[in-house]
Amino acid sequence: MAGRQLLMNFPVTANSHTLAEYRARGGYTAIAKALREMKPQQITQEVVAAGLQGRGGASFPTGRKWQVVVPGDGQPHYLIANADEGEPGTFKDRWILENAPHLLVEGMLLTAYALDARHCFIYIRGEFDLPYRRIAGAVEEAYAARWLGEQIAGSGFSCDLIVYRGAGAYVAGEASGLISSLEGKKGYPRNRPPRLTVRGLYQRPTVVNNVESLANVTGIIRDGAAAFRAVGTEKSPGTRLISVSGHVNRPGVYEVELGFPWRRFIDEDCGGVLGGRAIKAVVPGGISSKVLTGAEIALLALSHEALWDVNSTLGSGGMIVIAEGTCMVHLLQIMLRFYHHESCGQCTPCRHGTGWMHRIVDRIVAGEGRPEDIERLYYVAKYNDGTTICGLGDAAGFAAAGILDKFRDEFEYCIEHKRSRYEGRIECLRS
Ligand code: SF4
Repeated sequence: MAGRQLLMNFPVTANSHTLAEYRARGGYTAIAKALREMKPQQITQEVVAAGLQGRGGASFPTGRKWQVVVPGDGQPHYLIANADEGEPGTFKDRWILENAPHLLVEGMLLTAYALDARHCFIYIRGEFDLPYRRIAGAVEEAYAARWLGEQIAGSGFSCDLIVYRGAGAYVAGEASGLISSLEGKKGYPRNRPPRLTVRGLYQRPTVVNNVESLANVTGIIRDGAAAFRAVGTEKSPGTRLISVSGHVNRPGVYEVELGFPWRRFIDEDCGGVLGGRAIKAVVPGGISSKVLTGAEIALLALSHEALWDVNSTLGSGGMIVIAEGTCMVHLLQIMLRFYHHESCGQCTPCRHGTGWMHRIVDRIVAGEGRPEDIERLYYVAKYNDGTTICGLGDAAGFAAAGILDKFRDEFEYCIEHKRSRYEGRIECLRS
């Protein structure tokens, strides 16, 4: 086990998602305590003190995001759980939705109380089936037990929670795109400022938090900020749920204490690399995080600060392990196909840039690469950086530049020899 656990600290059974089992594990005691003993501002202060960082990708401090919203300012506030988990390689929020949906409901109740939000939403990925049924069932159970609705637990606090199914667009997982979709429009991201905490859903202050971030709020209020800070590192308190895929013997979702040695996690928890091969590269936090080499991973701890030091990020917690023998040109082709397909087309650098990069790598893989293609890829990647509305354009550029920086020789080989260095023994991640 990769260190101490805060979220996966119960045996998963056929009924662990039910209200009865959640109550038996001490569920809904945090919200009962908060409504009885705490003012909304105290909830926010406790989450700030815990140092909880967002678990969706940007790692922004959760409590600081809430502080922008002022309870009792006379206007409606909204809370949205972003359950549109669409980053390739990422499937860890799904674990919460399937196995501990009430943990999310309780975390949302606490957050709604802190924000003075009467109406909350869970925006869930359209393709999710079991996660949708589990969270919708949990919301129904919570209403029946009066943990949702009017005057919860006999207090003056009332809260409604609506589960809304998206239609499967990657950009609708971006907070402003999600809000557009929730408002019934196309899921187009929008320019900021104004920040969503100032003008979000229906032009009102809105907090959008990731599922795992909200699930952590329950434990922070139940056990206190100090208990949360006792796990993890000083700059990265707590744990992260990591979804592991790629060339490992035991892919799946793991809870890892932040600061745990990365290589030990892969070797011990994930059962090591398939066939005992060396690690060639690791995508640390969804494909929008910069790829790391096996040598970099060997020295790293799994924490936010360790990743920032090597110019990458823990991102969405989607780790893809890539074994020696994998063609990185082919891997980049797969990534760029995704970005090209998911670009919503609003911004010229992203609309055209993702397509240009995809077509350039397509022709390199097809044995028709040109000597100038590598510099051209860098050029397009650079002009996507910081020139687009949302992070998709940036991420496509990061992915291309990150792989080119570390595996340039493979691209040069492919262009010169008109075939992959791994021809005949390519093991791409699709196979
Ligand atoms: Fe759409 Fe791309 Fe612009 Fe994001 S960066 S808003 S996906 S065109």
